[in-house]
Amino acid sequence: MAQIIDGKAIAAQVRAEVKAEVDAWVQAGNRPPYLAVILVGDNPASASYVRGKTKAAAEVGIASDTLHFDTSISEAELLAEIARLNEDDGVDGILVQLPLPDHINPSRVLNAIRPDKDVDGFHPVNAGRLLLGEPGFVPATPAGILELLRRSGIETTGKHAVVVGRSNIVGRPLAALLLHRGIDATVTVCHSRTRDLAALTRTADILVAAIGRPRYITADMVREGAVVIDVGINRVDDPSHPRGYRLVGDVDFEAVAEKASWITPVPGGVGPMTIALLLRNTLYAAQRRYAYA
Ligand code: NDP
Repeated sequence: MAQIIDGKAIAAQVRAEVKAEVDAWVQAGNRPPYLAVILVGDNPASASYVRGKTKAAAEVGIASDTLHFDTSISEAELLAEIARLNEDDGVDGILVQLPLPDHINPSRVLNAIRPDKDVDGFHPVNAGRLLLGEPGFVPATPAGILELLRRSGIETTGKHAVVVGRSNIVGRPLAALLLHRGIDATVTVCHSRTRDLAALTRTADILVAAIGRPRYITADMVREGAVVIDVGINRVDDPSHPRGYRLVGDVDFEAVAEKASWITPVPGGVGPMTIALLLRNTLYAAQRRYAYA
């Protein structure tokens, strides 16, 4: 039976470290780090993610404001807002909650954020630095996965990591990170056009599922003793649940846990790490310091 990687506990540890560093930073005479969050429209999931981020920021002493715009805001107006925040010395981090309405091009918006304020790490400059192994902001979910591995004492050097998913926010940056010198995994990246996915996943020492399909990774796809990291957050109907649904990952948890050596649960695995690492990136932005510098 696998050992559970307790993302909630590890995230609490990271948040406590960030809080201690923020306290020391303020004690030394600096103003608290400040995060500007841009929210467009009234998607309830986005609003709830933003509330989660700003609440967690406040708990570690990071100041933040949510700039909430109506869906009717034009791309030019949004870009002007970002230009203003870029210039404002009181703003350390800028985060644009995705998705944006259809009439706004998300790349144009993300590319407008100053790279040294880009705490989500989605700007091409930061993505490029990550690929080159240079210091920059690393997207919070991949950075969080790395912390889970490190703090659970899981060796990565020379291990075969198979990442299922190639999105710009999880799969790709995680693959780049796992290749870094000092982390030294051998990385395979899979996607929807991969031939015989199961044959590849069965060779993984570390298997990461970032697919967005409930319980897609079944026990027959996992090698005995593998480390399994489940990034997926999927809603499945559950009439017995008060909300009528519950959250499951991309991994068939119960069956896979019988074979894996370590496994992350959903919820309570990768999810809590994402916010914790966003807070750390914001602290680093205030200190003009980069993650993994
Ligand atoms: P995307 O939809 O952007 O990417 C999904 C990836 O999975 C794509 O690369 C896609 O391939 C691949 N894929 C889809 N179907 C298959 C298949 N049958 N076999 C192999 N690969 C497949 O999703 P995200 O990366 O944004 O998110 C993935 C999951 O992680 C979601 O459930 C999301 O909710 C969750 N998530 C969780 C976070 C957290 O904090 N825990 C943060 C971010 C996301 P292709 O490129 O060919 O289409």
